[in-house]
This record gives sequence, structure tokens and C-alpha cells, in this order.
Amino acid sequence: MSVLITGGCGYIGSHMVWELHDSGESVVVIDNLSTGFDWVLPKDVPLVVGDIGDQALVGQVIRDHGVNAIIHFAGSIVVPDSVTDPLGYYFNNTVKSRGLIEEAVSAGVNSFIFSSTAAVYGIPDTDSPIAEDMPLQPISPYGSSKLMTEIMLRDAAFAYPDFNYTALRYFNVAGADPKGRAGQSTPRATHLIKVANQTALGDRSHMDVFGTDYNTPDGTCVRDYIHVSDLAKAHALALARLRDGGDSLVANCGYGHGYSVLQVLEAVKRASGVDFAVNYVDRRAGDPPSLVANSERAGSVLGWEPSHADLDLIVETALSWERMLLQKHT
Ligand code: UDP
Repeated sequence: MSVLITGGCGYIGSHMVWELHDSGESVVVIDNLSTGFDWVLPKDVPLVVGDIGDQALVGQVIRDHGVNAIIHFAGSIVVPDSVTDPLGYYFNNTVKSRGLIEEAVSAGVNSFIFSSTAAVYGIPDTDSPIAEDMPLQPISPYGSSKLMTEIMLRDAAFAYPDFNYTALRYFNVAGADPKGRAGQSTPRATHLIKVANQTALGDRSHMDVFGTDYNTPDGTCVRDYIHVSDLAKAHALALARLRDGGDSLVANCGYGHGYSVLQVLEAVKRASGVDFAVNYVDRRAGDPPSLVANSERAGSVLGWEPSHADLDLIVETALSWERMLLQKHT
């Protein structure tokens, strides 16, 4: 029996593959390699290069590999792109997820884990940690496309009692595998820690800090940065729980502690030893001042105990990966 990981060649998916591989699980990956890389997978993990929108292919993979659980990462993740190409995002993230869920239900694959996002909360009315029952009011097609998939899963689980899912809402995922086997490899990545590391290593000439006039302690936005290996662990716990007969669940994944943009930049300067210059520019559209998770549910229901909750460790592992990428590309 195997676990199907969609998008297993991407950033978070590849960490998930290694997490399950390390624990002796049999895994199969479907990835269309639109943004992922096949070299990041363990050599003995089968990769089916194809699109999750190809339902016949998904059905065949489920049968051929005896799939009994699905962890679904494949999708488009660039928020500003979702604003200019909403229909593309709804197709890739929502329509294709519907097909995947249909294949799971019809093949009797009753454990389904979904990669959701804090973007489903939009701009929260509060600066306090956000719990799962806060209003769901995404402000981008990306957030809406993920929320719509959560709703499809909820309704499917209601209609088909054997089918259970876990949707994990990620806060700001960062860092890389401490063993150096996987990391964020997308060249176009816009995430703060990636951009700052690239600037420290001279791979970018400069970087911007978007907004210094927020109502936060130092005026820059506060985010809950979570190490990708802790996030993969949360999925592994969710998988074990579903296999044990656990019911459907939505849970936040974050540390419950935020850092400002300036604090992150200080950590990158500490780790790299480079005091790079930054430009202070206007706010970026759609950035909430503060996004911090209340993850008590993941702790109490999944038994999730993060072991990498340290900004310096997050930055150092991401920096090592960035150095490796630079060497690889020169
Ligand atoms: N940010 C920044 N400069 C950058 C990239 C990001 O100042 O080059 C800020 C961004 O405005 C936000 C925070 O860093 O306040 C985290 O942004 P990121 O894109 O990493 O994640 P998001 O919170 O948007 O999902």
C-alpha cells in the first residue's frame, strides 16, 4: 500500500516525501514538473510525470500502486498571479482538486490530506493568534481557490461517511531539510526569507521591505514562520490519525509566535555574516499587518510538537540550501 503525494517535487511536497520515506512508508508521486524538480526525490520513489487534472491517470496510479491515502500539494501558489489569472487558479487549484477528490472517493481512498493556507482568513479583524473558527474571508483568488477545495472536502466527507480528510492551514512556511536533501528551489520565489538569503549571497542586487508604517512594534509586518520539516511532521501525524479512524479535521499550522520583517532580516544577516542593504518601499497590496496562528488544535488533536521552532534554525537551513542551489547553477 502506498501514499500518493501530488506535487511531491515541489517545496513542501518534497519534504513530505522524505519524511515518509525516512519512516519506511511506500510513496508514489504525481507531479507535472511545472515548478518542481525531479532531482529532489529519493532515488527509489516512483515519480509519475503528469497532471492531477488527468483523472484517468490518477485512477491508474491509485490502482497500480495500491494507494490508500493521498496528500495533496499540487497547485499554484503565487498570490499576485492569482489576481491577474483567477480562472487559471480556480482551474488548477479548485477544478483539478475536485477531480482528484472524485477519484479518491470512487477508488475507496478514504484518507485525504489537503494543503490549505492561512490565506483563507484574508485580513483578520484582530492581531491576536488566529483560530480555525475565525471568519473565512479570503481576499485573493488563491485563498478562495483553496477555501473552495476545503468546502468540497467537507461536503464529500459528509456525503461519503467512509471518506475523511484533514486540511492543514499553513502560515509562513520557510527553511529547508536540515539534512540538506530538499528546500525551496523555485527561482521566481518571492518569499521573504528566500529573497533575503539570495540578497545576502549576492544572487540578487537588492531587496525591498514592503511598508514600515504598520501598527506593529517596529512598523513592519509580523508573520508566523514555520519550519517546513515541522509542517511535514504535522501531515505525517494527520495521516496516522486518519488511518486510525480519526474523523475529518481542519487545523492551523504555525508556532503561535510572530517575527517582523526587520527581525527576519536581522536573522539573515546573523546567519550569513553579510550586512546587505535594503530599500524601504511602500506597502505591498493585500498584506495584513500581522498573521499569527493559534495552533492549539494541531497540538491537542494531532499531538503535533514542533521541534524546529527557532527563527535562526529556519534561516540557517534555508541559507544552506540557497548556497547549494547557487553552486548547482554555476
Ligand atoms: N516582504 C518584504 N520583502 C520581500 C518579500 C516579502 O518586505 O521581498 C514582506 C511581505 O510584505 C510580508 C512578509 O515579508 O509582510 C512575508 O511575506 P512573504 O511573501 O514571505 O509571505 P506572505 O506573508 O505574503 O505569505
